[in-house]
This record gives sequence, C-alpha cells and structure tokens, in this order.
Amino acid sequence: MAHSSAQLLAAKSGFQRALRAWYRVHARPLPWRLNPSLYQTVVSEFMLQQTQVKTVLPYLARWLVELPNFAALAAAPESRVLKLWEGLGYYSRARNLHKLAQTIASRPVPRTPAEWQELPGVGPYTAAAITSISFGAPAACVDGNVVRILARLTADATPYRDSASASKAFAPLATALLPATNPGDHNQAMMELGATVCFRQNPLCLTCPVVKFCAAGQRGDPENYPKLAAKKLEQVAVMRVWIERQCALLLHLSAGGARRFANIHELPTAAQAGLTEAAATKGKLLAKKRRGITRYQITESIYRTSSPRGMPPTGLVWVPLVDLDTVTLSGPHRRWVKEILAERPAPESSRR
Ligand code: SF4
Repeated sequence: MAHSSAQLLAAKSGFQRALRAWYRVHARPLPWRLNPSLYQTVVSEFMLQQTQVKTVLPYLARWLVELPNFAALAAAPESRVLKLWEGLGYYSRARNLHKLAQTIASRPVPRTPAEWQELPGVGPYTAAAITSISFGAPAACVDGNVVRILARLTADATPYRDSASASKAFAPLATALLPATNPGDHNQAMMELGATVCFRQNPLCLTCPVVKFCAAGQRGDPENYPKLAAKKLEQVAVMRVWIERQCALLLHLSAGGARRFANIHELPTAAQAGLTEAAATKGKLLAKKRRGITRYQITESIYRTSSPRGMPPTGLVWVPLVDLDTVTLSGPHRRWVKEILAERPAPESSRR
C-alpha cells in the first residue's frame, strides 16, 4: 500500500476537488442531506448501520413525524420506539438510540468523536459521521465502502483477516485525505461514491470522478481489491412452531432484559414451546426459510402443531390474530406470519 498511498497523498488536493465537484452534482437528494439537523443525522446514522438506504427512507420519514426531536424520543415509551423500528432489525440500535436521547436530554450536546463514542450504540464510524457532518470535526468515516475505495485507489495487495482489521489499517489514510474544510461533505462523498459508483462488483470506473487517482481503476482490476479473507459461514438449523387456539397465535416474548430481542415477539422455537423436535415435526411443515445473520446461515423450519397442555410455558403469550398488527414482531417473523396467514384457505363462511 505504501507506494500507491504516497502517490495518492501527493495528489490529495486534486482528489478532494474532483470528489467534491462530483458530489455536488451527483449526490442523491436524501432527506438527511436536504434538511440537515443533528437529530436527523443521528437517527439516520443509527438506521443506516446494517441497513440499506432504500429500506431506511420510509422508516425515517415515519419516525420524524412521530418522534421529531431528541426530547420527544427521550419521553417516548420503549414499546413505541420498538414498534416504529419494527422490520428494520437489530433492535439494540433502537434501544441505544432511545437511551442516547435520554442522555442528551439531560446534559450539553457532545461535539467531539470521543465524547460521542461514550454514548450507547455509537462506534468510531457513527461518531465520525455525526461529528464531521454536524460540527465539522476532522474525523474520517471508515466502513466497508470506504475500505473498498481506498484499497482500489492504492491497489493495496495486503491480505486482511476481516473488514474490521482492514478498516483499522485504512483509517490513517482516510484521515490524511480529509480536507480542512467541510470534512462532513467529504465523508458523505466517499460513502456516496461507494454506494453509487465503486460497486463491489462491476464498479463504474469509466465514469468515476476519481479514476485518474485510482491505481486499480487504471489497471482494470478493481474487483481484486480489497483482499479480504472469505467469510466462513456456520450452518444453523432452528425449528419453530405455529400453535393456534381460538383465533389466537402463541408467540414468544423476550424478557425486557434480554440482550438482542427484549420486548420483541417471535414464533417460538420447539424448545420454547416445551416440545421436543420429534414432537414438533409430527405437525405439518408450513414454511422453510433461510437467512444470513453475520457469520451464520440459518435455516428455520416452521411446523404447525397443537397447543401445549395447560398454561403456556414461561415467555409465551397468546396474541389474538386480530391484534397481531399491534404487537412488535421481529421483521422476518412479521413476514412469515403474514405469509402463512395469507396462504391458508379462507374460512367456509367467507368463501364465495
Ligand atoms: Fe472505484 Fe473504479 Fe473509481 Fe477506482 S476508478 S474508485 S475502482 S469506481
């Protein structure tokens, strides 16, 4: 990296100018750019952790109507915050954002990356984004997009164990490339370049505003960078059960103190419903779903089975089918429940 990175830094002001000029013309008109405010920047940065822009947009619009500022968010009950977040996943972000608003409401607003990193849910990337955009702090955002751009600009052949170690290695270069004025615009321009031009596959080098500064772009082998070790996926199988009684569905409600899914409803696993896997598989298989979460490839099988005898085991609640929309379900479970309900035959009385 050393040679190309030195060349890039020698051409730093030309690189900054080319990137800024492109960003001014091509930046997507996203709400947090059109009407910037600290609150909107913070909420959007939390939502954008792990989630794509197009998914975030309707959530952010609804959130800003319901909870328009830190004070409203701080005063809202957690159940309302989680309901507004329903479907975005990674619910700890919503709980951290809620706690952050409550902290900010009772003390002066922090201004430096180090102070922001003391707040719940704020890591180096989010702290750099918030403080560079809202306070002009000279802090570089380094995420997978930025690593990809920097690795290609410098045709860096160093092998990295994972994206966290690559981010750490590229942080000094990202910081050295920051302009003295408007570092927030520069950070946003880098993110925009990663999201709309320097794609993981088939990057648009021919029309890229910084191709003349890019070693890999000029060589024609950008997809060879960064050199990240392939992720090893672990296969996990989960058996879930669909138990219905008197027009109510049995759901698992995680306890308030649970680390990931506190106060979120999900279809119970066989074990949560007090059933052995052998007993659960006697029922009809309603759906088989696959999804990836971090390094896990999870296959979830959902079996219709009968109600456990007596009281439901701890943590399970009966939710009337007509009230399903009012409780908070995790995103995939909301989709599965809707799909299963939509697929079953209508009751005799409503058939024509
Ligand atoms: Fe990415 Fe290609 Fe632009 Fe280089 S020239 S930054 S590889 S899009």
